[in-house]
Amino acid sequence: MQIKRLRIAGFKSFVDPADLAIERGLTGVVGPNGCGKSNLLEALRWTMGENSAKSLRGAGMEDVIFAGTATRPPRDFAEVSILLDAGDEEREVVRRIERGAGSAYRIDGRDVRAKDVGLLFADAATGAHSPALVSQNRIGAVIAARPAERRAMLEEAAGIAGLHVRRKDAEQKLRATEANLVRLGELIADQD
Ligand code: ATP
Repeated sequence: MQIKRLRIAGFKSFVDPADLAIERGLTGVVGPNGCGKSNLLEALRWTMGENSAKSLRGAGMEDVIFAGTATRPPRDFAEVSILLDAGDEEREVVRRIERGAGSAYRIDGRDVRAKDVGLLFADAATGAHSPALVSQNRIGAVIAARPAERRAMLEEAAGIAGLHVRRKDAEQKLRATEANLVRLGELIADQD
């Protein structure tokens, strides 16, 4: 899976819609301090499902919406789209947040849960917490990671993180079914 395009509107400093085409090979983003390079990576992580406002350098999630400048009024929403090349098809993942209304996701135009977006990226061995996305303040954390954390990084890189989520779901269903069976046994016993 390859990211082909990032489209950003109203997210942090990107007040006007901006398209970033990501070609095969290496893409470099250069610019003066404070021009929005880190905001680009944060837009990517946010759309992949990042839910920690702090890790996006904000106090609350609405802080990702353009807050206004001396010359431009604030925006009411932010929307970021990631266009993916998934082998034989293209897929588009969109996350949108509106002031006072929270955020929502779409995949290929259909409303989906955050979990669906998480699974889509986890199966492609990436995601909001992928060790491949290293922000400036995380370099030290990667070096100092404990063995268990390092194992989680390797599992993500190997593309099996999505399987852990599915196993958790399956275990929950199994426990619910076992509880139902016990209850059923009691009902049958009551009727005898
Ligand atoms: P450096 O090279 O110093 O790391 P950078 O190019 O990575 O900088 P960013 O940190 O991505 O820059 O962008 C910082 C800019 O984004 C600041 O000017 C800040 O005011 C602006 N910014 C952040 N959040 C918002 C927001 N919600 N609304 C408007 N502007 C914002």
